Amino acid sequence: PCLKAEVSSAEYDEGPAFASVLVDCPGATAAYTYQIPRGWRVQGGDVVEVPFGSQVVRGIVLEVLAVLPPSVDPQGLRSLLEVVDQQLFPKDYWALLEQIATYYCTPLIQVVRTALPPGVLGRSQRRVRLRPPQGIPPLSEQGQHLLRFLQTKGSGDYSVRYLQQQLPKVQRALKELERLGLVETYLAAAASQQPKRQQAVVLLNSEGKTLTQRQRQILRYLQQQGRDCWLQEVLKATGTTPQTLHRLAAKGYIAIVQQQHCRTEQGIAVTPDRPKTLTPAQATALHVISKHLDCAQTFLLHGVTGSGKTEVYLQVIAQCLGRGRSALLLVPEIGLTPQLTDRVRARFGERLLVYHSGLSEGERYDTWRLTLMPEPRVIIGTRSAVLLPLVGLGLIILDEEHDSGYKQDQPQPCYHARTVAQWRSRQQQCPLILGTATPALSTWQAAQEGQIHLLSLPQRIHAAPLPPITIVDMRQELHRGNRSMLSRPLQEALENLQGQQAILFVPRRGHSTFVSCRSCGTVIYCPHCSVSLTGHLFGEEMEVLRCHYCNYTQRVPQRCPSCGSPYLKPFGGGTQRVVRELNRLFPQLRVLRFDSDTTQRKGAHRQLLTQFAAGEADVMVGTQMLTKGIDLPQVALVGILAADSLLHLPDYQAAERTFQILTQVAGRSGRGAHPGQVILQTYVPDHPVITAVKAYDWDSFATRELSSRAPLGYPPYAQLVLLRLSSPDPEDVAATAQAIAQHLQRLDAVSQGDWEVLGPAPAAIAKIAGRYRWQILLKGQSLQTCGLSQALIHLKAECPRSTRLSIDVDPLNF
Ligand code: ADP
Ligand code: ZN
Ligand code: ZN
Repeated sequence: PCLKAEVSSAEYDEGPAFASVLVDCPGATAAYTYQIPRGWRVQGGDVVEVPFGSQVVRGIVLEVLAVLPPSVDPQGLRSLLEVVDQQLFPKDYWALLEQIATYYCTPLIQVVRTALPPGVLGRSQRRVRLRPPQGIPPLSEQGQHLLRFLQTKGSGDYSVRYLQQQLPKVQRALKELERLGLVETYLAAAASQQPKRQQAVVLLNSEGKTLTQRQRQILRYLQQQGRDCWLQEVLKATGTTPQTLHRLAAKGYIAIVQQQHCRTEQGIAVTPDRPKTLTPAQATALHVISKHLDCAQTFLLHGVTGSGKTEVYLQVIAQCLGRGRSALLLVPEIGLTPQLTDRVRARFGERLLVYHSGLSEGERYDTWRLTLMPEPRVIIGTRSAVLLPLVGLGLIILDEEHDSGYKQDQPQPCYHARTVAQWRSRQQQCPLILGTATPALSTWQAAQEGQIHLLSLPQRIHAAPLPPITIVDMRQELHRGNRSMLSRPLQEALENLQGQQAILFVPRRGHSTFVSCRSCGTVIYCPHCSVSLTGHLFGEEMEVLRCHYCNYTQRVPQRCPSCGSPYLKPFGGGTQRVVRELNRLFPQLRVLRFDSDTTQRKGAHRQLLTQFAAGEADVMVGTQMLTKGIDLPQVALVGILAADSLLHLPDYQAAERTFQILTQVAGRSGRGAHPGQVILQTYVPDHPVITAVKAYDWDSFATRELSSRAPLGYPPYAQLVLLRLSSPDPEDVAATAQAIAQHLQRLDAVSQGDWEVLGPAPAAIAKIAGRYRWQILLKGQSLQTCGLSQALIHLKAECPRSTRLSIDVDPLNF
């Protein structure tokens, strides 16, 4: 059966009708047809419970049919069991989810599972509850036993499974009680979320002459609030009892009603904030965008940190709300950008909704449902917020659009929030703003070609200069006998801090290791793919170097192929080693460590940053995390210890990432009144990326990098698809990878030369959590047009059970 893009909303009160249901169950691949019980109103987009094999599962009604499709056998037809939730899927939302499923080669139900809040889909369970007793007829011993058990709890509401664990022979006793009408059984979702309701007080009449002091006080309170108030809130604020409220209700002054209580993280403005008078550059940007509020136009708002991008976002959002539409503001990681959230809250207060995976299930469910309402709101969230229903959407903004946090690596769908945002902008005819100091190369290229409208904010607001960057050649340090990981210029700068603060940046390397020559800086690259070769360990020794794109393999040379020196070594050095070295050289400096180890605890980010901002430490040593949304005016020195470990990542985007990260880190220096400085250590001081970073020269870097990607056929000049395979058995996964690669080689798109198959090869991180990992990289022109998507979706069937296969379209992490 095929899935229809449009969900029909026809209702059928009479006669037999059928529902085509997308069933949420592993193994269910298509839509299944069910009978709708007589008299039920079912519509496309409803969440229902259905029998599936021997289980009861949930599913979504795709469409309602008046007649049974000829392909369905009326004999085996089963009925819907329950409607759990209604109309969760507006029509264009369906279309979006289907587009994601098609583009990312993922079954639709898996996309739906990702998009829905927790507790809507998922297993159901059968429960038992007591019915009002009408005299108890004679019962068997087990029947009496079960009844007594149920009566110990008021409603007698238990799951059948629980009863089975507690009592013997429950099934038979249950049937007996059910037959006699003493209990009823029903289905419920195991982890069901329902809108939460609670008592609220509504003011009906505030004029009351014959009332007591206390009663008048309550009416005054309600009048001051100017809205319905929660009963609990009124009791607390006025210090009264529920009886007083009920007496007021009996006299008709107030009403006590059940209202839906939203468990959302809503904004309450602490200190309201007003729009700023824009600089000329900001005003131009705002003017251009506001002329396109009804167009599916994408803008790149290009400006260094502190150039006033956020202020532009806020003023565009205000215009969008003014037109009665909602705005979605996406950020890479919400925990790391509390300052941005605070600013949006200060400007828009109660209209703000926050959505991210750190919320409780109830909060996520309620926030999700709120975005089904057309009321204009500002939704700020991480990547998954782009999958909210967002009825009445009028604007999308991606802050730090280059950030790889917008890409989901696993599980499928491996979507990119920017790509989905582009589709939504087209669907809703609304603008999309991409804001950043360091655009993704693909964004930059689209801007150069005119598909994206480029808007620049060339200066920091208070015209503060960017800090000068000094490059230190680490080969010279070695030749002059300094074997410390801190170069002499950096040591001198640390000695001269004079009460100011410093940040030392040590890039995280993942697990992969490249080999470099300490004497001349040479790094060994794959001759075919232009990515660094990864060292593979055999015991303690690193013997083999391998390309994890194409599987090119060579032995580790004894001597450097360029200069013949024997100092060819794996590159390394983590934050802990740097802290030790600092303690040894500068015992007087107080040091904080900021990396994934020290920030694991909830709230640890903020705490460490607050400590540092309060001057409780002189130096902060940290990883990439330091690049995100930190504004610390006291920082006068930024040291970049190992620029090379970014530059030589085994990844075709290594240069792009390096430029982005180094520019962001450098920007941490000199934000306050004092001019800052940056010291960048490297073994390849003449590398074009390093010289471009030093000059803050994005334009020429981008031009050079784009022209080097074109001949290699890397994005944006071609599309990549990464197949990731893993298995607990190293031989199985290698064999499966080989078989799949051979199968792919025979496909038309590949044999005719439109697509190229690289590998299979072991992944850069060859083993994670006991599973061996291999990968196959596909390179070619537009997946959609060559029929390859369908072939990829069917590959799963070719894999043995123990092997997991995931398809990553437009992969960012290798
Ligand atoms: P970005 O988002 O590019 O980092 P922001 O919008 O955060 O830049 O602006 C940097 C700082 O300058 C903020 O403190 C902001 O309040 C302030 N600012 C922004 N625009 C203006 C303006 N037009 N006039 C005065 N201050 C401004
Ligand atoms: Zn060398
Ligand atoms: Zn290669």
